[in-house]
Amino acid sequence: MTDFRHIAAASCDYTHFDAVIVGSGPSGSIVARTLAEKGCHVAVLEYGGLVSPGALHGPHQAAYSTALTSSGTADGKPWTACCVGGGMQFYNAITFRYRQADLSASRYLTTDMEIDWPITLQDLDPYYTEIEHLLGISGANGFPSYPASSRGLMLSNAMQTLGIRPKNIPLAIRPPGTSKGCTECSACDELACPTDARASVLARNILDDSALPGTITVLYGCFVNRIETRSDGRAEALECYVPLSSERIRIPVERVIVCANAIQTAALMLRSKSRHAPRGIGNESCLVGRGLSFKISGYSVGHMELTCSNAFVPHWGPHATVYTDEFYEHADVPCRFGGLIYEANFPLPDENVGLVRLHYIAGEEPWSHNRVVLDEAVDRYGIPYIRFEYRNSENDRARISFLADRADDILRHLGAFRIEREPFAHAKGSAHLHGTMRAGHDPGTSVVDSYGKVHGFTNIHVMDGSVMNFAGNSNPTHTIMANARRMALSLE
Ligand SMILES: Cc1cc2nc3c(=O)[nH]c(=O)nc-3n(C[C@H](O)[C@H](O)[C@H](O)COP(=O)(O)OP(=O)(O)OC[C@H]3O[C@@H](n4cnc5c(N)ncnc54)[C@H](O)[C@@H]3O)c2cc1C
Repeated sequence: MTDFRHIAAASCDYTHFDAVIVGSGPSGSIVARTLAEKGCHVAVLEYGGLVSPGALHGPHQAAYSTALTSSGTADGKPWTACCVGGGMQFYNAITFRYRQADLSASRYLTTDMEIDWPITLQDLDPYYTEIEHLLGISGANGFPSYPASSRGLMLSNAMQTLGIRPKNIPLAIRPPGTSKGCTECSACDELACPTDARASVLARNILDDSALPGTITVLYGCFVNRIETRSDGRAEALECYVPLSSERIRIPVERVIVCANAIQTAALMLRSKSRHAPRGIGNESCLVGRGLSFKISGYSVGHMELTCSNAFVPHWGPHATVYTDEFYEHADVPCRFGGLIYEANFPLPDENVGLVRLHYIAGEEPWSHNRVVLDEAVDRYGIPYIRFEYRNSENDRARISFLADRADDILRHLGAFRIEREPFAHAKGSAHLHGTMRAGHDPGTSVVDSYGKVHGFTNIHVMDGSVMNFAGNSNPTHTIMANARRMALSLE
C-alpha cells in the first residue's frame, strides 16, 4: 500500500528512502512505481493536496503561485495543476503515441537549439505498450475503442467529404457499457473524474499498488525549494518549505529525481545555486530554463444552422473523440510540419448547444530566448518569482494558422454560419510544458543525458517533459510517462 500523508503529519524518518521524487504527476508517479517494482523505498514530495472526485481544475492552479510574464505582471500559470496526481487529475485523457518525426523534427524545423531527441521511437515503443496496459488506453492492445460522440460523428462525415481522414482518439477512459465504464456525466474537461472511468495515476494501480515489492510514501503539502549539493557532484539533501506549519525542513537524499514540470523543474535547478553550482544545477552552459515550449494551439467555434439538429443538444462524455492527423507531415503545411485537429467540446454540457468546436495543436520551434528565469522579486514565502519569456516565431504562426484554416473548412462544411476563433494565448503558460532541461550527449548543448541524469552530477535526475527537446505535435502525457519509465528502468 502506498502511504499518502500531509507532510506536517508525517513524523517520519526521512533517512530510509532509496530515492526522493519531486512531483507526483504522471511522470513522478510512474518513476515511483518503476522503482518500487525494483524493491526500492521511495518518497514522493508534492506541493499540492489531494483532489476530491468531481473537483474543478481552476482552484488547483489559482491557489498556488503565479509567474511573471513578458507583460510585467504576475499573470502566468506555472503549473499544469498543483495536486497529488498532477495535471493528469484534470486531463482529457487524450493519449497519442508520438511519431519518429516528433523525435527528429530538425528535418522540418530550424532553431538555435538542439531539437532532435537523443533517442528514437523504437526506444520508446515497449514503454508505450506498458503504459497502454497500465492505463487501459482505448483502441490499443485489445482494449475497446471509445465510440465517437454525436458531434464527433458529424465531424467525421464532414472531414470525409473534404477528403480528410477522421480517426477515433485513443482515450484513457473506459468506454460506456464496459465494466466500470464512463457514465458520461459531464463534458469531461477540466474536472476530476467522479467515477474513475478516466485513468489517472490514482484511478489505476500506478502509484498505489499493494503488489509492488518496494514502498511508496507520498508526502504532500511540501514545496521543494532547493537541492543541496556537495563538491563531488552529489545531491545530499532537499530544503523544503511547508506552508501549513511555516516550517523549513531538510530531507537527506540518496538520489533525487525531479518530475515537477518543465517550468518548476528548471526553477528548482536555478534556485539550487551554490558554490558547487554557481549558476544553478546543470547550468554550466546556461541552458537550464531555455527552449521553453508550450505548444502552439487554438480553437475554432462553429455556430450551427438550425438544420444541423445534432448540434443543438448538450454534450455529455469525453472532451474529444474524433481527430485527424492528415496535416501532421504534409506538403501544403508551412515547413511541411503541422499537427492535429480534433473535436473539443466545452466543459459544461449546456455550453455546447448550437456549437461545434475544434482544437488544433502542434509543437513549436524551441528557441533559446523562450525561457524560465528567476526574478529578483520574492513571494510571501521568500521564494523568487518565476518569470517566463516566450514568443512564437513566424514559422509557428504560419503553421498554426494553416491548421486553423483547415478546421474552419471542416466547420463550414458542417453547416456553420459563423466561425469564431478563440485567440491564441500562449505567453501565459500552458498545460503542455516542455524543453527546459534539454537531453543529449554533449554538456555544451544539453543539461541531462539520454536517461535524464544531469551532466556533472551523479545522483540528480530529471524525468518529466522538460527533457523533451521538441514538444511534439500531439498531446504529451503518454509520451512523458513512457519516457519516464524508460529512464527510471535504467537506474541501478
Ligand atoms: C485541463 C487539462 C487537460 C489536459 N488534457 C490532456 C490530454 O488530454 N492529454 C495529454 O496528453 N495531456 C493533457 N494535459 C496535460 C497533462 O496534464 C500533462 O502533460 C501532465 O500532467 C504532465 O505530467 P508531469 O508529471 O510531467 O507534470 P505535472 O502533472 O505538472 O506534475 C508535476 C507535479 O509536481 C508538483 N511540483 C512542482 N514543483 C514542485 C516543488 N517545487 N515541490 C513539490 N512539488 C512540486 C506539482 O504540484 C505537480 O503535481 C492536460 C492538462 C490539463 C490541466
